[in-house]
This record gives sequence, structure tokens and C-alpha cells, in this order.
Amino acid sequence: MKSFEHDDLHYFRFETLPGNGTVTHAVFSRRGGVSPAPFDSLNLSMSVPDTRERVYANRRRVYGLFGRDTDTVVHAHLVHGTAVARVSPADNGTWVEHFDGLITNQPGTVLSMNFADCAPIFLYDPRHHAIGLGHAGWRGAVADLPGAMVRAMVEQFGSDPANLVAAVGPCIGSCCYEVGDEVIDAVRAAFAEPDGLLPQNGGPQPHFDLPEANRRNLAAAGVRAIELSDYCTACRTDLFFSHRAEKGRTGRFGTVFALEM
Ligand SMILES: [Zn+2]
Repeated sequence: MKSFEHDDLHYFRFETLPGNGTVTHAVFSRRGGVSPAPFDSLNLSMSVPDTRERVYANRRRVYGLFGRDTDTVVHAHLVHGTAVARVSPADNGTWVEHFDGLITNQPGTVLSMNFADCAPIFLYDPRHHAIGLGHAGWRGAVADLPGAMVRAMVEQFGSDPANLVAAVGPCIGSCCYEVGDEVIDAVRAAFAEPDGLLPQNGGPQPHFDLPEANRRNLAAAGVRAIELSDYCTACRTDLFFSHRAEKGRTGRFGTVFALEM
């Protein structure tokens, strides 16, 4: 990812996803907003006890970069599942309930999701001019939300997985993600060769490699071009919100993926 600054905003873009004016995207850092600690400062979520006034001020800054406000992007009410919704400009300004994947091939649709340790999944089909944005924590990785997004794009848009360009955004890394039996058992049941996803890292308990699990899901679905972010959200609480590192007292940083008119 490359780092950008615009006014007070600080955000990142993947080098493999185009910035050609027809498809635009950004992963926002937590910097440049108006919220006080522990939501400092660019918190986009009202699922945490920040104020509506401040969250809306933050959203205006973020979506303003795309020429939008909070009422003209598609939001998703995330539930750690594998359901994928096909959306259109008619969904801009709405909250799509109980979906962790959004896909569209309709110009003018702006997809948005917020994160604090779970992995943002970006998918782009340059042939069919279609995009997808997803949310995969350990539950989504074990249940294969990334694969479900690929299959939805194949079914809905005729995408060939081999032509898709994928990116996995900043999320908690195996360095910081010690896990218990529930996660260990689920990873062992879901993945071939699970040991590589559960490194011991010198500690008493295994750690889960969430970005690698999502990369494996995308590769198993046939995607070849996959870029991973270098950032662990728990290591870099100066840049990102981390539910684990900040013991739940934190905000959510934004991602936006837009198919421009
Ligand atoms: Zn870390």
C-alpha cells in the first residue's frame, strides 16, 4: 500500500488496484478526525460509544474525498457471515443488513465498510468493470467469505477468478493474535495444512494468521493477483484502530471502494 495525505486525512491505496478515475479506493488511517480518545480521531462507527455528531463529521471528511457524504455511500451491517449482496446506486445511503460482502458492476455505487482488526477484502474485475468489498475476521476466514465473494462475482457478473485483482487490507497479524480453542478447532476443521495458519510464535498458545488465511481463501477460489497489506492493526495503533490491542475501547477505521460514473 502507498500512503497519501490530503488536508488532515491520511489514507492508503493498494498498488495493484487501479487509480484510473473509473475505480477508486482508500483505506483510511485513524488520523484526521474530530473524535477524542479512545476514538481518536477518525472513528466512523456508531456501534461504539462515540457521538453521532462527531461520527458524522468524520464520515463527511472520509466520503468527501470521493465527492460524497454519509447519505450517498452503501453501508453494510456486518455480522461475521458469508452472505454477499449485489448492490447498485439505489443502495447508496442505505445500510444493507446482515451482509459481509458487497459487490456491484453499476457505476456510481460507492461501497464502504469499517474495521478494527478484521480484514478488509477488495476484489476488482477489470474485464467486467465490477468491484467487491468484504469483511473477514476469523469467523469470515473460516467460513470462506473471500471465496463466497469470488463465487458471487462469477455468478452475477460472469467474472473469471483468474482475472480478478484482490487485496487484503490492514488487519490483526499473527504477531498479535493469540487465539483459544474455539478458533484453533475451527481453523483446523476449515483449512488443509492448518499448522501454517497457527504459528506458536514462541508463546504458550497458538496465534492465528488472519491475512494468510484470507489469502489462501482467495487463492483457493482461483484468484492469482493478491496483494496483502504490510500493516498489523494491533502493532500500529498509531495508524489504525485495534479491538484486541485496545481491549475493545476503540473506534473503527474506514474503507471505501467506488465504481465511478
Ligand atoms: Zn502485530
